Amino acid sequence: PIGSLKDKVVWITGASSGIGEHLAYALAGAGCKLILSARRGQLLERVKAECLQKNASLKSSDIEVLVLDVCDTDSHEPAFRSIISKFGKLDILVNNAGRSQRARWEDIELSVDKEMFHLNVFSQVALSRLVAKYFLQMGAGHFVITSSLAGIAPVPFSGTYSGSKFALNGYFYSFAAEKIDNRIPVTIVCPGSIQTDFLAEAYTNKSGEKYGEHTNENSKNKVSAQRCGTLMGIAIANQLSEVWIAKPVVLQF
Ligand code: NDP
Repeated sequence: PIGSLKDKVVWITGASSGIGEHLAYALAGAGCKLILSARRGQLLERVKAECLQKNASLKSSDIEVLVLDVCDTDSHEPAFRSIISKFGKLDILVNNAGRSQRARWEDIELSVDKEMFHLNVFSQVALSRLVAKYFLQMGAGHFVITSSLAGIAPVPFSGTYSGSKFALNGYFYSFAAEKIDNRIPVTIVCPGSIQTDFLAEAYTNKSGEKYGEHTNENSKNKVSAQRCGTLMGIAIANQLSEVWIAKPVVLQF
């Protein structure tokens, strides 16, 4: 079914590693034209080269590397304009960039809350509002959000992260409800534990204290980033409104 996405122009934020990277491979395989954005340009170039290898019918000009700190909301409009002038259209925006940090609820500083909400929520909302105006004008478009199961159920020691993903879901369910007649689907993807760098970083707080273990032992409960990217591609092609990607896990306290 993912072949139906051929020639779609898709902008993926956070495409330099993990889930965004593997979604890029799945979409390149389906013949999408891609805008790969994140801060680490060298990694994006590597992802681009791999995408071109996955699909020999794609040309180098079909994949754009866009170095962008999504938190810098002033850079959204020039970035969006450059995409339209290069590709002539944008079909799908994947809001995927994000990070987490684990800490005890009472220890979290407000500055950490603000920083994480700025990345995980406000930057995605700002970018999507800009793109929403374009989608509404075109009468077509598709938002994809990499949210989290932590945006549906609480996860211990992830208060800020969980709060940010609940908020993200609220924003986009509300967009979907408001624009139900405008043919702009919203796909909210809620992964559980996926094998990426994200968890290793998240499990150590600023003072080096570890919350839980990021070990091979519990990695059997994680889904590979490749599988997550492939499943996301299928969810996008089918315009599912919500998808959960997880293995059953047992939480121990
Ligand atoms: P990674 O750390 O591998 O990917 C995070 C991506 O976000 C990177 O490409 C990073 O690129 C990008 N990013 C971070 N900050 C910024 C920024 N300021 N501007 C632009 N890009 C940024 O982790 P994942 O692939 O796991 O995470 C991707 C998404 O998946 C996140 O939204 C995360 O919340 C979500 N998720 C992950 C789960 C997991 O278990 N791994 C579970 C549920 C949800 P760069 O550093 O180059 O800017």
